[in-house]
Amino acid sequence: MSKKHILNYTKDELENIVSPKFRAKQLINWLYQKKVTNFGDMKNLPKDTREMLDKNFTILSSKIVSKQISSDGSIKYLFKLHDNHTVEAVLLQMKPTIYNEDGSIKHLAKYTVCVSSQVGCKVGCAFCLTAKGGFIRDLSAGEIVEQILQIYIDNNLESNRRVNIVYMGMGEPLDNLDNLAKAVKIFSELDGLSISPHRQTVSTSGLSSKIDKLAKMDLGINLAISLHAVDDDLRQKLMPINKAYNIASIMDAVRRFPVNLRKKVMFEYLVIKDVNDDLASAKKLVKLLNGIQAKVNLIFFNPYEDSQFQRPRVEDVKKFQEYLLSKGVICTIRESKGLDISAACGQLREQNINGVGQWQF
Ligand code: SAH
Ligand code: SF4
Repeated sequence: MSKKHILNYTKDELENIVSPKFRAKQLINWLYQKKVTNFGDMKNLPKDTREMLDKNFTILSSKIVSKQISSDGSIKYLFKLHDNHTVEAVLLQMKPTIYNEDGSIKHLAKYTVCVSSQVGCKVGCAFCLTAKGGFIRDLSAGEIVEQILQIYIDNNLESNRRVNIVYMGMGEPLDNLDNLAKAVKIFSELDGLSISPHRQTVSTSGLSSKIDKLAKMDLGINLAISLHAVDDDLRQKLMPINKAYNIASIMDAVRRFPVNLRKKVMFEYLVIKDVNDDLASAKKLVKLLNGIQAKVNLIFFNPYEDSQFQRPRVEDVKKFQEYLLSKGVICTIRESKGLDISAACGQLREQNINGVGQWQF
């Protein structure tokens, strides 16, 4: 019988694996705060508990097989899973550490980690490299959690560091909702990494019925919608899922979604040259968002070899943004973090499969 993955369990579940209950708290502390990767090193657990854990469970189930460091400090990781499939995660440095004149730290660097939820994706968006390889399988909750834990270990990040999580890597997170929800819970465990759901954002291509299901779970997580087009004809061409869930159904689901008072629903809009970068689209977008607590994030399409679309002109993206701002819609342009390492989802994996790119093992 193969060993089970210990990162797959919530605190409640670990309390049924080790006893008495306080042992689960100690175990979580070793795993997520001290980041020990060997049960034998968990000194305050009794020897027979350590042996039982070692016999039945593994801690790390994947390996970092490549790592690319961008000039802006972002690091892209490629993980090889237990069955040799690969997924990506990216550590984005949102703000660098700022030092005082005497060399002491004024502000610690702020990070966001972008994690994958599936190997491949079923949704099949026309612009997305992840879609090209089709769908292979869901990630378990433990495999989602492990991407973050490995990144903490690799960068020596202390557990009390402010890290945000975005489920914007490979895959459609709402198509793997149960495992996603479990990962959200494991991340937020107070004795563990303690990353509150309010610091986690799930990005979806707009599976309206699953948005409702997520709302009912009441996890307290933030929502981001990959909208990318303002009329159904174009959206259908870019994102075939729009046939099943059109724009109106997504907007209705968003209106039903409980939003933290201080937060907003994020609408991601991938700007593609001469496809959706015109002011008429910006006008329609303002209308669509009427009455919704929304913020818009404009993303430059990141081209890859043989992609049928092109990167938009900077001035067109700026005009698009200015129009939204002039109508009172909060709108940011996503900084092209990690552009030099092809940080759009699926691109590192693709390079690795095709044997190009530079690798650091
Ligand atoms: N499946 C989910 C989350 C993963 S995709 C979703 O679609 O929301 C994360 C984001 O990467 C999406 O907004 C997607 O549109 C964007 N993306 C995909 N391909 C891209 C590319 N070539 N350039 C820039 N962004 C891309
Ligand atoms: Fe899947 Fe998101 Fe890529 Fe669409 S953009 S194929 S939903 S990962």
